[in-house]
Amino acid sequence: MIIIKENMCDFCGACVAVCPPDAIELREAEIRIDEDTCTDCKLCVYVCPIDTLEYAA
Ligand code: SF4
Ligand code: SF4
Repeated sequence: MIIIKENMCDFCGACVAVCPPDAIELREAEIRIDEDTCTDCKLCVYVCPIDTLEYAA
């Protein structure tokens, strides 16, 4: 699963743009990942410019 370090996210939207199954939801000041939809591809972890997302098996 992907862990979000929420206090670090600047809501740039880069992770949302690359997520193949559209599992990331970005609202005004909140980011959420639907664990059921997420395929653990880790693309979001790689594109986040400030290392907000972390993969945990
Ligand atoms: S790991 Fe892949 S599927 Fe899961 S939220 Fe990140 S980009 Fe989307
Ligand atoms: S790419 Fe990183 S900083 Fe940008 S919205 Fe996603 S988690 Fe937040």
